[in-house]
Amino acid sequence: MNPEVLLSRIRVVLCRTSHPGNIGAAARAMKTMGLSNLYLVEPKLFPDHEADARATGAVDVLRAATLASSLKEALVGTSFVVALSARQRDIGPAVGAPRETVARLLDEAGRGEVALVFGNETVGLSNDEILHCHAAVTIPTNAEFSSLNLGSAVQVLCYECRMAAFGARPPVVSQGVTPFSSPPATHDEVEGLYAHLEKVMTDTGFFNPEQPGRLLQKIRRLFGRARLERDEINILRGVLAATQVKTRHGCKG
Ligand code: SAH
Repeated sequence: MNPEVLLSRIRVVLCRTSHPGNIGAAARAMKTMGLSNLYLVEPKLFPDHEADARATGAVDVLRAATLASSLKEALVGTSFVVALSARQRDIGPAVGAPRETVARLLDEAGRGEVALVFGNETVGLSNDEILHCHAAVTIPTNAEFSSLNLGSAVQVLCYECRMAAFGARPPVVSQGVTPFSSPPATHDEVEGLYAHLEKVMTDTGFFNPEQPGRLLQKIRRLFGRARLERDEINILRGVLAATQVKTRHGCKG
């Protein structure tokens, strides 16, 4: 199925959010990853200028957000629901890793609407809210500091959704910039550089052909690793030619 269609079937549900700034951050996180269905269950403050400020270019996601008076209401029409929890619970669905659970979420999105449910900043999700979900995810963290900012947790999951929807290879935005590229140097062009370099090193006294050691081999090893491009060969040979001109004119520094 078309990745954009899959992403459009994912709801991000924020439960009882205390800080409107986090709602804005979540909207921005969603939009960067191609998600747009934001559901807000009893937010403490919304709409709010702080939410708009943190959303920056994603205010459209905020404006289109659906307000719900309960999680049950926000989940109407969904057929697969994942809870995001920073802590392991003694009750609720089995906890899985983000990547594998998101793979299942995307699979379910191929059949209908699905949801990711995030809890309040201080207390997380209630047991009652967790029991509305079919699966749970904990983002692996430092054992001594496991609680991500709400907006950051939304970003991690939305990123995983995008990766899964595009089969791990989402298109990268090039923003109209054509990266510089030069054709790779041919074998004979590289040999020309080695000969030129050897001559200049000999003429300047840096290299003594009577006692060659392994200098020439090491230089071949260096440039072999670099996979030189034609443009780069031209630069290096230009430097060598300029050095020769100065040497010939007897420039002593
Ligand atoms: N003190 C709360 C943390 C709330 S952070 C608690 O212990 O549950 C706000 C929300 O961000 C959480 O409810 C959860 O949905 C999400 N979140 C934060 N850190 C997370 C983590 N490591 N794994 C999964 N979700 C996380």
